[in-house]
Amino acid sequence: MSRNHDQEPEHSLLDDALSRLKDIFDRLDVADDVRARLAQPALALQVGIPVRMDDGRLEVFTGWRVHYDTTRGPAKGGIRFHPAVNREEVMTLAFWMAIKCAVVDLPFGGGKGGVAVDPKKLSRLELERLSRGYMRAVADIVGPDRDIPAPDVNTNPTVMGWMADEYDAIMRRQQRAVITGKPLALGGSPGRVESTGRGALQVLDMWAKREGRKPADTTVAVQGFGNAGYHFARLAHERGYRVVAVSDSKGAIYDAEGLSPEPIWRHKNESRELKGMVYCEESVLCECDRTTVMSQDELLALDVDVLVLAALEDQIHADNVGDVRAALVLEIANGPVTSEADDELAKRGIPVLPDVLANTGGVIVSHLEWVQNRIGEQWDEDTVNARMAERIAREAERVMDRAAKDEVSYRTAAYLQGIGRIAEAIEQRGTASDFGS
Ligand code: GLU
Repeated sequence: MSRNHDQEPEHSLLDDALSRLKDIFDRLDVADDVRARLAQPALALQVGIPVRMDDGRLEVFTGWRVHYDTTRGPAKGGIRFHPAVNREEVMTLAFWMAIKCAVVDLPFGGGKGGVAVDPKKLSRLELERLSRGYMRAVADIVGPDRDIPAPDVNTNPTVMGWMADEYDAIMRRQQRAVITGKPLALGGSPGRVESTGRGALQVLDMWAKREGRKPADTTVAVQGFGNAGYHFARLAHERGYRVVAVSDSKGAIYDAEGLSPEPIWRHKNESRELKGMVYCEESVLCECDRTTVMSQDELLALDVDVLVLAALEDQIHADNVGDVRAALVLEIANGPVTSEADDELAKRGIPVLPDVLANTGGVIVSHLEWVQNRIGEQWDEDTVNARMAERIAREAERVMDRAAKDEVSYRTAAYLQGIGRIAEAIEQRGTASDFGS
């Protein structure tokens, strides 16, 4: 099978992501060194991962691990298993990780990994062999002080546990802090699984408070019902927000009176999709007459207060941005709005709570897991949640204040904060000005 992952796509995700920097660099008046450093990743490794399949065949999967910038600390970022993963996507995701870690002032740079694979087509043992094979292939460039992977799309604590175990076997010593999002019994942190959704809800709450909005009067539609989208929806529902629609890659369900995320999640885990779900036949639910099945596109166009994007990148683009009717867009996925669509939303006065702020709960708790591993402790969930909440409150407050003061979008304010910190670190290491030029 021929695979040409190097071919640059017509629409370049990385170029689009980097295009947001020019204005930020100008506003911050950064040194040329900063512009040059952030124009490309520090390290991009491509690997072929041989996996013995259950039927005896050998399949070689293509994977990547990228360090975008490591000036502020070791690279940090998840590993994604998805058929559409490619080199450019992993580079872009690593770039966003660098910004994200700096926005919330974690001592990390940005990294990301991925494998082009449809994990749903693998048996459990094939998945384990792939996970261990990935770690063997990238082990030279990861480590607790070098690059610390974590879960991302289609990877979970079990996969992290296999990878951590493989790393220990390669190094012939225990190094739990090499990877985060591990199972609790293998040094994972309480609260890590829900952390992305929990953090995003906190950012939404802060916005709602500033706007004088009450949860009960706020309707929410959630695109993407994976780990982050589900836990966000569940916690938002518990807080009293009216979650009227959720979708997965195959379709959406809508109920104007509000849905209960928990039974939907149970159903999804049993049947693997929402579309075929006859919501009314769930024995615990009786909202049957009101529930409608719709397409993802229809969900994006719903007249709701908050549109939550928790699926993949590039979901709102030039062709469908005109359909968005929400009062606010909350980005839980990385890069779900293209820069062109972002400008259009700004023109129409629809604010966006950006990924690099709104989805930082995950990496914040990953940092807490790394700290616990390094000092040989395991904290309780309340301690972890309180520490995460404290960091988000502080850093999101700064971003929101700056947005108000400078009259810029939340994204611009977050980038000014994150890029400002990265730029300062780069400049402190020495720039052209040290040479008197
Ligand atoms: N994959 C998550 C993200 O995109 C978490 C990364 C981490 O915990 O290192 O933020």
